[in-house]
Amino acid sequence: MLLAIDQGTTSSRVILFDAKGGVVDVAQKELRLHTPEKGWVEQDPQDIWHDTLWCLKEIAARNDMRDVAACGITNQRETTIVWDRETGEPLYNAIVWQDRRTADYCASLKAQGHEDAIRAKTGLLLDPYFSATKIKWILDHVEGVRDRAESGEILFGTVECFLLWHLSGGKAHVSDASNAARTMLFNIHTQDWDDDLLALFDIPKGILPDVLDNAADFGVIDAQHLGAQIPIAGMAGDQQAALIGQGCFAPGMVKSTYGTGCFALMNIGGTFAESKNRLLTTVGYRLNGAVTYALEGSIFVAGAAIQWLRDNAGFFEDAKESEAIASSVQDNNGVYFVPAFTGLGAPYWEADAKAMICGLSRESHYAHITRAALEAQGYQSRDLIDAMAADAGRGIESIRADGGLVANGFMCQFLADMVDAQIDVPKVHEATAWGAAALAGLQVGVFQDLDEIAAFWQCDVSYKPNMDAGMRGALYAGWKDAVGMLV
Ligand code: ADP
Repeated sequence: MLLAIDQGTTSSRVILFDAKGGVVDVAQKELRLHTPEKGWVEQDPQDIWHDTLWCLKEIAARNDMRDVAACGITNQRETTIVWDRETGEPLYNAIVWQDRRTADYCASLKAQGHEDAIRAKTGLLLDPYFSATKIKWILDHVEGVRDRAESGEILFGTVECFLLWHLSGGKAHVSDASNAARTMLFNIHTQDWDDDLLALFDIPKGILPDVLDNAADFGVIDAQHLGAQIPIAGMAGDQQAALIGQGCFAPGMVKSTYGTGCFALMNIGGTFAESKNRLLTTVGYRLNGAVTYALEGSIFVAGAAIQWLRDNAGFFEDAKESEAIASSVQDNNGVYFVPAFTGLGAPYWEADAKAMICGLSRESHYAHITRAALEAQGYQSRDLIDAMAADAGRGIESIRADGGLVANGFMCQFLADMVDAQIDVPKVHEATAWGAAALAGLQVGVFQDLDEIAAFWQCDVSYKPNMDAGMRGALYAGWKDAVGMLV
């Protein structure tokens, strides 16, 4: 059996898989988000660690850990943690990927003309989303941290690295190429930390982890935690893990994950290519030192808009109800919901944009707004898929979709209609966790190669496009008008 830790923005999970990708057991704990100031999004690193350990212990109490060949870790990406290298004590809250506190600093770097060089080295755009400016913020604003960083007393890591450090009893300070590629400090050509970028952001190299392939010997879960030593042999950021779990190993294959945010990745093979349409280029995966690149469209708010309707607007009690509510009206009645709660990601990259519900009339009611929130997933995806198709120079016929929102049939059908491509939802809904487990399995010899992993992929439901072009065009034009008010 294979174990996967899937530490996401909304929850921490541990999933036990059999060697065919079947889910044997799951333990999960919701994770709290703190928003101490406008645009700030934080989590408690101790919650991240203790919740993950709690999930592992739950699984260990119900299953024989001696049957586990290896463990993989996948994680919310970019979220930045700095801790004491002796005690593991965090020196500040985790600054979550959605946090926009460094927007002004990013704008000033852009104004100084740094974006092109950063883009050429990292494949990323200059945005608060990535870790570099979050690390700098902690070094500059938390008392004593910069001095301690200079004298080698503290460590930085994104979530996978922080968890590994704790799981290994403080022995391993290691990350993987897919996570490193999201820090904006990692040169994706040389596959190493970049001295020029470290100088630009004024970050001491000594706080950074070693970077390994996605399938590698990362460390061992210390026996004190689960009573058995388990090798950690796979590691990948959540979106890259989903690319693997969805079996997108051939150039041109696309997966799109609808969780808190929405992230579409297209495998572009072994040659780096810069997007001409404001997408990111990132490390899809690195195996035996060979990099497979991916084009990525990142949308910051997808399921989080449904959460907002549930928790802040009080429209319903369970996200599931949104499907029946949206289907209770015939159309959106001209209502559009641009869920730019944490700025706009690809392809707009407007760090300061705010969310908007527009087109309301006297007869609009909450069902139209709910429908608009679900339709927004289709429009946002259309923005990305059009950009991807333009970069790739060809149309996209099918997309492998996963994440919490694909349980919503209305959303999936609207998505197929809006992007005019078939949406395939696989039998294993846990594509992200399975990707991490599969990487671990690859490293310890449960699987021989990627073909063997690809063969596990099975389609559960396909949604075929079924909307006439006129309607599609008119609805999308309404979305473009709405977004146009923000950018
Ligand atoms: P993450 O991995 O980012 O933590 P998940 O993939 O677990 O997120 O997806 C959770 C998100 O999906 C939540 O934001 C929730 O509001 C949304 N969601 C879950 N089920 C549904 C549903 N049936 N309809 C609409 N949204 C849903």
